[in-house]
Amino acid sequence: MSIKQRLAKLNPRQQEAVRYIDGPCLVLAGAGSGKTSVITTKIAYLVQECGMSARRIAAVTFTNKAAREMKERVGQMLKGREGHGLTVSTFHTLGLNIIRAELKALGYKPGFSLFDPEDAKALLRDLMNKDAQVDADQINRVQHQISQWKNDLILPGQALSHAADDDEQYAARVFEAYGRHLKAYNAVDFDDLILLPVVLLRDDPEALARWRRKIHYMLVDEYQDTNVSQYQLVQLLMGERKTFTVVGDDDQSIYAWRGARPENLVTLGEDFPRLNVIKLEQNYRSTGTILRAANTLISNNPHVYEKTLWSEMGEGAAIRVVVNRHEEAEAERVASEILTRRIKERAEWRDFAVLYRGNFQARLLELKLQHYQIPYKLSGGTSFFSRNEIKDAMAYLRLLINPADDNAFLRIVNVPRREVGPGTLEKLANYATDRGISLFAACHELGLEQQLPIRAVERLGRFTHFIDGVRRRMDQGDAIAAIRDMLREMDYEAWLYQNASAPTIAERRMANVWILIDQLEKSMNRDPEDTASTETETDGVEAAISRLVLRDILEQQAEEDDSDRVQLLTMHASKGLEFPHVYLMGLEEDLLPHRNAVEAGTVEEERRLAYVGITRARRTLTLTLARQRKAYGELMDCVPSRFLDELPEGDLDWEGRADKEDPEKKQARGQDALAGIRSLLG
Ligand code: ATP
Ligand code: MG
Repeated sequence: MSIKQRLAKLNPRQQEAVRYIDGPCLVLAGAGSGKTSVITTKIAYLVQECGMSARRIAAVTFTNKAAREMKERVGQMLKGREGHGLTVSTFHTLGLNIIRAELKALGYKPGFSLFDPEDAKALLRDLMNKDAQVDADQINRVQHQISQWKNDLILPGQALSHAADDDEQYAARVFEAYGRHLKAYNAVDFDDLILLPVVLLRDDPEALARWRRKIHYMLVDEYQDTNVSQYQLVQLLMGERKTFTVVGDDDQSIYAWRGARPENLVTLGEDFPRLNVIKLEQNYRSTGTILRAANTLISNNPHVYEKTLWSEMGEGAAIRVVVNRHEEAEAERVASEILTRRIKERAEWRDFAVLYRGNFQARLLELKLQHYQIPYKLSGGTSFFSRNEIKDAMAYLRLLINPADDNAFLRIVNVPRREVGPGTLEKLANYATDRGISLFAACHELGLEQQLPIRAVERLGRFTHFIDGVRRRMDQGDAIAAIRDMLREMDYEAWLYQNASAPTIAERRMANVWILIDQLEKSMNRDPEDTASTETETDGVEAAISRLVLRDILEQQAEEDDSDRVQLLTMHASKGLEFPHVYLMGLEEDLLPHRNAVEAGTVEEERRLAYVGITRARRTLTLTLARQRKAYGELMDCVPSRFLDELPEGDLDWEGRADKEDPEKKQARGQDALAGIRSLLG
């Protein structure tokens, strides 16, 4: 299909949004109205009609899954080399690419580490425990606060001078020390992936000029969920040319807790007075019934922008509400229904999606799906990367590219067992801290013998010598072969067998490690022009490893898996996606809306979350709930979600609710009972 034909398929307003390229453009519209379609078509339009090189275009979105989908859609439109160098990624991947290309300007050494939230927490724990013993709650609070500051583009100095109370003062001081230590470790954390590029582009005119030369057009999906620093990144990159298209829906803003600022939609109009605002009103995704439910629900929230959505998809089936005795019955019901409906509706497994508020809700469902041998894919949750063996292997990879990564060092110095005791590690850590060097570097120092028994020094020496040897081999030639040899030489497999309760478990774990290394190899061999910043660089093992670490943080599944499976995902992760048949589980107070949100007074955000969930459905929507559910170890009675009351009563088809029982049935049963009593009385 030519681009002209593609354009012709869009409605006039979508076409306008695609064709408008001379200035900033905002598409503001409800779910399923074709916002993402505008972005993908516009990329093709820019390349095929406007003659823009794909490498000058960057499209960003929110989740890896969404980025993958978008890449796929664009891939179908661009032919051959047309798409080379195009960036379609998450904000964080774009940030990572900028950091990698600008290491020198940022003052980092090659082979920097990416700390995942666990690593960051470990560092914070060390720093905070220096003064006084602190508990996990305090650490979490400070971590959250630091993350918020970073998302709001507040640096330690400002945080300190603006601190409102003692707690904030304290957090700001930890923030400062934390930043210093990260830098010393040659490491960045997740939030830095946006913050560092923004600070660089803001303060370094040459770097800014470099990136403005590189990226000429930006497109942002799910704009309502950008935070302050992400907005700044777009503004800095596109400031001069003002050539960008952002699309969003304020009713789908569900990441306030991660610093998202839906007001960015308003700010955009103030910062760019010539902003062309285009609204879309036709929904192409859902039946009239589903759309009406979504619209009615969200009308309970206050609105900045009024939006109306209509659909030509027909009325469709009523929305079923299924009340179950308890959570297990709920899971059983969903699984068995999918089994039968697949045949009845002639659907495929992938046509079904089950959405829920929290990952824990998937556990029972997984068991039931396994029981019926229904193939499914769980997004998020216990991902590949949170497995111990993968964390070990990742720590080796991280140490190989950055020996100053103390967290990685600590994770694996004794895995497999090398008889390095905690006493030794503590002395080593003191020695390293006194001299301001990494643990790995400290192992090489001569003075260490005075502090540690010679045997301990030898053991540490053997370990670092081993790692150094692998690093040398990686530099000399086939890096992947060197890594595979390393795993064999240290006999990681034997270690797994020693630590597993059954040989098959160890086997599977080892297989996982090889999958990881295969992934790494694939990632190195991929099209080197696939990202914005790799034009001038060779895509070495270091880059591939940092990409893996990023994926780890984004909790991605190991394999891109588009095979035929039922999709299990949280409502948060479902943003931007669509499925013919959707189940929303757990429509109960305290679950949706979540108890914390009710207590914090943020029910509106929960309502938006339910809106996102409902609007994923194309043809049928089933809402399920349980009358009883285990919480805090006890079986508790559940109250149906207030959101059920906010849906159009006439569109709901209840099942299993006592007070909504079919009146005829009720009457019949009453007569049965009467007859029984009469017969008893003789
Ligand atoms: P969300 O807010 O959920 O992200 P969206 O606004 O991004 O939704 P899309 O995902 O782009 O919506 O589109 C929803 C569905 O409608 C898709 O299946 C898409 O292919 C289809 N669609 C979009 N525009 C049109 C159109 N003009 N004609 C027919 N179908 C369309
Ligand atoms: Mg979309």
